[in-house]
Amino acid sequence: MAKKTVKDLDVNGKKVIVRADLNVPHKGSEITNDNRVKAAVPTLKYLTDNGAKVILMSHLGKVKTDEDKAKNDLSIVAPRLAELMPGVTVKFCPVTRGEELEAMVDALKPGEILLMQNTRYEKGESKNDPELGKYWAGLGDMFVEDAFGSVHRAHASTVGIPSNLEDNALGFLVEKEVDMLGKAVDDPVHPFVAILGGAKVSDKIAVIENMLDKADKVIVGGGMAFTFEKALGHNVGSSLLEEDKIDLAKQILKKGEGKLVLPVDYVIADKFANDANTQVVGEDIPDGWMGLDIGPKSIELFKETLNGAKTVVWNGPMGVFEMPNFANGTLQVCEAISELPGATTVIGGGDSAAAAIQLGFEDKFSHISTGGGASLEYMEGKTLPGIAIIKDKD
Ligand code: ADP
Ligand code: MG
Repeated sequence: MAKKTVKDLDVNGKKVIVRADLNVPHKGSEITNDNRVKAAVPTLKYLTDNGAKVILMSHLGKVKTDEDKAKNDLSIVAPRLAELMPGVTVKFCPVTRGEELEAMVDALKPGEILLMQNTRYEKGESKNDPELGKYWAGLGDMFVEDAFGSVHRAHASTVGIPSNLEDNALGFLVEKEVDMLGKAVDDPVHPFVAILGGAKVSDKIAVIENMLDKADKVIVGGGMAFTFEKALGHNVGSSLLEEDKIDLAKQILKKGEGKLVLPVDYVIADKFANDANTQVVGEDIPDGWMGLDIGPKSIELFKETLNGAKTVVWNGPMGVFEMPNFANGTLQVCEAISELPGATTVIGGGDSAAAAIQLGFEDKFSHISTGGGASLEYMEGKTLPGIAIIKDKD
């Protein structure tokens, strides 16, 4: 059943609380990457164009101490948002509850935005304190969930507010994520190939298992491949290895027989550095060396496996892509996926998205998810509480 979206709400003249993801990277008061602010604009523009009085909320960073509060003051976002929304009045409220906030909400005119201070200034936010969710919900008439990066967390601002506001819906950003991830993970056109990599098996167990259930082939690369190599009896040298996950890797190998595709060679290095000495070897890695990327035969094998795929989900880099000498596997896989004719191609995971963008593939996939943790949990088949709470379409 599809969820309501912002277009299903009659927002004219209404106070609409929007939970966005304005958790921008910043140095002091300087925003170092404004992608998240930009991503919030379409929903905000729709709402202000349609006469809503917008109460905008987001968290910023982690807040435990007063020092953290000073470091994560959300006021830095207001001027950037105002620049991105010419003609729209953007006000900032420095507090998260009380008279000043309530007065500013009451003074809002249709088409204006009031950005409230960092939701995490409230201790109850991360605990989904019922009193807090109810209080914030009381400030508005309606709620719009547009913080995809936070929907995997049941917090007061993501779940508490919509639990208290009947009129709720997804914003455009979350709608697109749900649509694209849903198309790939829940309703894939076959053949469906999943490519999993990244650092650790332990981070990806649930994704591997869910993909083994759903995909036709599951390719495994990256650092986590070595725990599988070890489980197969190979020598892994000083590659990334999770000793305590070898048994689990054995079980996964058994379950995935015929489906699981592992690398057949590696680019190995004599230290964890871009200027290390390197060589290409098969599945056995000599002592003193570590695998930092997949090798050329593996790239060919993965390309063959991808050939003809109509749905591809990719999570986890094939190697230490941050170092140019070990980025080739990730680059080649990116290229192969992006060239598949007529395929739905989705990237989830924070580092995978960063890798694809860094390597120049920003516009070459059907969808690059904006929420690292949330997309990972989606690929694990988990229910995302911030989405589950939103009403279904009538
Ligand atoms: P995502 O954030 O997309 O879910 P992960 O966080 O699981 O991805 O993994 C990303 C990290 O995995 C990258 O920082 C990359 O350097 C690392 N990585 C990939 N391959 C290796 C390897 N062979 N050895 C060590 N680290 C690796
Ligand atoms: Mg990561």
